[in-house]
Amino acid sequence: LLSLQGATVRFGGRAVLDAVDLEVAEHEIVCVLGPSGSGKSTLLRAVAGLQPLDSGRVSLDGRDQAGVPAHRRGVGLMFQDHQLFPQRDVGGNVAFGLRMRGTSKARRADRVQELLALVGLPGAGPRAVAALSGGEQQRVALARALAPSPRLLMLDEPLGQLDRSLRERLVVELKELFGRLGTTVLAVTHDQSEAFALADRVVVMRDGRIAQSGTPLAVWQRPADAFVARFLGFEN
Ligand code: ATP
Ligand code: MG
Repeated sequence: LLSLQGATVRFGGRAVLDAVDLEVAEHEIVCVLGPSGSGKSTLLRAVAGLQPLDSGRVSLDGRDQAGVPAHRRGVGLMFQDHQLFPQRDVGGNVAFGLRMRGTSKARRADRVQELLALVGLPGAGPRAVAALSGGEQQRVALARALAPSPRLLMLDEPLGQLDRSLRERLVVELKELFGRLGTTVLAVTHDQSEAFALADRVVVMRDGRIAQSGTPLAVWQRPADAFVARFLGFEN
């Protein structure tokens, strides 16, 4: 579904994304792990079309996406700070991407109900965003990202602001939800237990490069190098 070939992004001469090759298959859930500043968000932004490449290419379904604007790529992105629109109610937030695509009002209302039920907030449409808990807001952001049925859903620290017990519960729910919908997911996290619970495959980044890619078990059992081992918490 997704293919990056030599994807490179430079800021001030430094390669923040350094010739990255990555394939994501349909229905696969891939989690990107790595320290702060290793290029995880830049990777997602490049795939979404929000960050132009300096060299290399991003392809979706075999088609080079160079010059294709973000809203035509058919990918959904849930940002690191999920950024709901505070002046819109829950339903208005979820419907946002559908409005942009010209979906009819009646169809939008149905879809919003369906999505809110899906993320475990049935009937929350009229509620004010500010009156929701952090976990509820994250679910609304997820429903918003899912609304246009993106062929690739990208999540940047989707559970970042939540406490551990809520994260652990939501990860299980998300895994089940994505399996049920057959969603292809590329998710960033710096929490390895989250990645290992969610992912079919984990990708560990270091300084704009992929240090290792493999199943959670393979990466855990056989870290590719000392960096990955240290990152996973093995002392040596
Ligand atoms: P975190 O875990 O903290 O979110 P990250 O892995 O997502 O980190 P990125 O946001 O991809 O990291 O940033 C990678 C590097 O690129 C960082 O050093 C960052 O300062 C730099 N960077 C990102 N965006 C820009 C920009 N627009 N201009 C200049 N430098 C940038
Ligand atoms: Mg980031």
